[in-house]
Amino acid sequence: MATKTNSSASAWDTRESWAKGVQKPVIIIGAGLAGLVTAYELTQQQIPVLIIDQEGRQNLGGQAFWSLGGIFCVDSVEQRRMGIKDSYRLARRDWMGSARFDRLGDDDDGEGEGDGSGSGKTGGRGRGQDYWGKQWAEAFVKFAAEEMETYVKDKGLSFLFNVGWAERGDGTAQGHGNSVPRFHITWGAGPEVVRVFAEPVLEAEKKGLVKFAFRHVVDELILADDNGRAIGVRGRVLEDDGAERGVKSSRAAIDKFEFTDAAAVVVATGGIGGNVEAVKKAWPVDRLGPKTPQNFVLGVPAHVDGRMLGIAEQSGANVVNRDRMWHYTEGLQNWDPIWPGHGIRVLPAPSSLWLDAEGKRLPPFLYPGTDTLATLKHICGTGHDYTWFVLNQTIIAREFALSGSEQNPDLTSKSIWQFLKSRIFSSKGTVPVQNFQKHGADFVVRDNLEELVKGMNKLVMSTGGNELPVLDYEAIKEVLESRDDQVENKYAKDAQIMLIRNGRNYWPDSRARIAPPHRILDPNHGPLIAVRMNLLTRKTLGGLETNLKSNIMRADGKTTFPGLYACGEVAGFGGGGVHGYSSLEGTFLGGCIFSGRAAGLAIAGEILG
Ligand SMILES: Cc1cc2nc3c(=O)[nH]c(=O)nc-3n(C[C@H](O)[C@H](O)[C@H](O)COP(=O)(O)OP(=O)(O)OC[C@H]3O[C@@H](n4cnc5c(N)ncnc54)[C@H](O)[C@@H]3O)c2cc1C
Repeated sequence: MATKTNSSASAWDTRESWAKGVQKPVIIIGAGLAGLVTAYELTQQQIPVLIIDQEGRQNLGGQAFWSLGGIFCVDSVEQRRMGIKDSYRLARRDWMGSARFDRLGDDDDGEGEGDGSGSGKTGGRGRGQDYWGKQWAEAFVKFAAEEMETYVKDKGLSFLFNVGWAERGDGTAQGHGNSVPRFHITWGAGPEVVRVFAEPVLEAEKKGLVKFAFRHVVDELILADDNGRAIGVRGRVLEDDGAERGVKSSRAAIDKFEFTDAAAVVVATGGIGGNVEAVKKAWPVDRLGPKTPQNFVLGVPAHVDGRMLGIAEQSGANVVNRDRMWHYTEGLQNWDPIWPGHGIRVLPAPSSLWLDAEGKRLPPFLYPGTDTLATLKHICGTGHDYTWFVLNQTIIAREFALSGSEQNPDLTSKSIWQFLKSRIFSSKGTVPVQNFQKHGADFVVRDNLEELVKGMNKLVMSTGGNELPVLDYEAIKEVLESRDDQVENKYAKDAQIMLIRNGRNYWPDSRARIAPPHRILDPNHGPLIAVRMNLLTRKTLGGLETNLKSNIMRADGKTTFPGLYACGEVAGFGGGGVHGYSSLEGTFLGGCIFSGRAAGLAIAGEILG
């Protein structure tokens, strides 16, 4: 093992401190959830691991720490307790209806990879970009139905009793969306998901089986001269930075490092969502046009920079489905930001009225919480980067949930009392929601509609000047009154009212998540609230192409890259795109767990025979 480091790196620069001659270590790049799960699986089999991360130890767990901890499981104990009938068959149909895998073919266009149009052109490699993604999808849904729940619960995770219902669907049986609630929120949120994998890895560190190299940024993979096998990494040692978790850290380098002679190298470096330029570059204008949106808030920390995708690609790894991303349409500018451009996603329930930048109501079935990608497409088609939710105090108190562990102190601290107090008995909503209502730059709160529309126009003027549309009070009043009249009609023809009534058939939602249908303009439910919703970057659905063992495929798409593995978001959560075009939610943490586990098991299998 040839290593060259300065003293700051010496903590891990000791081949001797590993049980000499027993086993070469596996290098894992990335100490996020995917990397930790891989490390967990390897160390369970006594295989030594070196985990390299560009951030400091305080960021252990990466994005997962910030997450709400929602995990996609099928036919779980919690679902059954809530009377939800779920099955592998139903989940598979939902998944395939959402993923719409359409790059499976072998229609040679000579360009080297699929053309993003869904034509299935493969540049002569014989397999479309969805070849592995679809197989991962089949395997993942099976895992979610048969093993996920036991796998995580055995490690100490538990779920909230009321399973959440995300991505309620596009209004069709075969299309996008969850037919039933499947979003299992971890009791303890993201930090708890991290904890159950980090603790055993930290225990293994105490025993000398795991070494960490924090503040080491990988710039290059090292391949063996004779057979091209991945055997190490090269990069820069960054200066120490005591910045708190999530805060952007210094990129000043103080030295170089090189680490070779590894048994295998695992890329677990996350997606591109923290790098808005990379997001714009990958934007599929043909699908989500007519132009690339200009303004985003950022739903992930700056370290989610996507650099490693290019670095692996340069070494010959295949990247597929670059144009598939999962960005949200309900982003708030965080009034108390942690990372640059920090945005918070509203996890909406169905009652808010959704207007585009010109004040036109979004069409069926683009309602809050139904179909993220179709809504994104529609918004992009308006030529503006924002929309409006119009609601009132009753709806905000019951229906606004914010994504992120720090925005859910009751869940994160596992306080059942706080949970009940703020989510069931409060007429104001959770404290973080109240804070946004008070301090958030995107909120307008007024007692009557005319003043509300004036406030919305003022907000637009203050940020966009004369370039952006002015909202017309009379037109918005007509939209609201027509909607409100339908609430009083038992046989409402308004699809959103039907959705609300249907959602309330799920009893936890009728008690804690969806306000009883009422007129938005009813002053008894006031004040009125308008919230400007920004586009928010989050997840990368494409990435490094991997087979079912998380082994990276070479650029020819047919042969595996010896010694090189990828898992988590950088691998499109498996295969280079387990989600196809759309997600059912809770599938990202789940995808990190499943693909990280696959990497660990496969490498252990390769090493131990
Ligand atoms: C606020 C928020 C809420 C979320 N909620 C949910 C949810 O409820 N359910 C769900 O399923 N998903 C959720 N997600 C998504 C999920 O958390 C992420 O997709 C997942 O955690 C990604 O994990 P990862 O290990 O693949 O990557 P990351 O967590 O991004 O970790 C990658 C690590 O690699 C390091 N790294 C990158 N490049 C290099 C390099 N060149 N050299 C060295 N180190 C490098 C980074 O510093 C980082 O530590 C949420 C995400 C956020 C931000």
